[in-house]
Amino acid sequence: MEQGLVEITLNGTIIRAKDGQSIVEAARESGIYIPTLCDYKSLPPAGTCRMCMVKVGNRIISGCTTPVSNGMVVESESPELADLRKGIIEMLFVEGNHMCPSCEKSGDCELQALAYRYRMDVPRFPFSFTNRSIDASLPHLILEHNRCIQCLRCVRGVKARGGQDIFGFTDRGREIRITVDTTHPEAMSDEIAKKAEAICPVGALIRKGPHYTTPVGKRRFDLTPIGTDVEKGGEGA
Ligand code: SF4
Repeated sequence: MEQGLVEITLNGTIIRAKDGQSIVEAARESGIYIPTLCDYKSLPPAGTCRMCMVKVGNRIISGCTTPVSNGMVVESESPELADLRKGIIEMLFVEGNHMCPSCEKSGDCELQALAYRYRMDVPRFPFSFTNRSIDASLPHLILEHNRCIQCLRCVRGVKARGGQDIFGFTDRGREIRITVDTTHPEAMSDEIAKKAEAICPVGALIRKGPHYTTPVGKRRFDLTPIGTDVEKGGEGA
């Protein structure tokens, strides 16, 4: 085998992967979609959402933070894993206030798209009806805390041109709140608002301005259900 490559068995098929890359990356490069919410393109993995859980041996582990190793046997699709993922999606829905029909991100929202993929109907958990604030004080960006799923993509991925942090957070767990460093001049820019809206998997960071220019029904996941671009050789979210 070429140097730097390993072989793993994924869902019964042997695939080659780069030594050290994560199970999620290796699967993606082989056209196998493992769902994620906190994982995003070139960002270092955070392992916060647990959507990418896979089974290795008898252990269920996070696929975005676990590197492949030669001979590893991985299962990424099974009724058990599907139910666990569906449970996480349901918990996210009941923990926040996700009113899909009135959300600007409907059809472009990864949480909604995963709910469709895992056929969520009515969550099996009680709704908590949280009453968080909506912060519209920034010139170009609205922070809708009720929709935040605490993936921290904005904190990890939206930086000023000099590399400084723009987004941060306070508190922990259910009380976590995304914050913006308003002392940084770029925090007020439309450029940062665009980046934030694009990186947020849900409708928690919404750029001020016209929405619904692309009608619901013709948006990204309306046309291409989540994961199918990976299965056709694309890079995914
Ligand atoms: S605001 Fe969006 S990107 Fe930031 S942590 Fe919440 S859901 Fe994730």
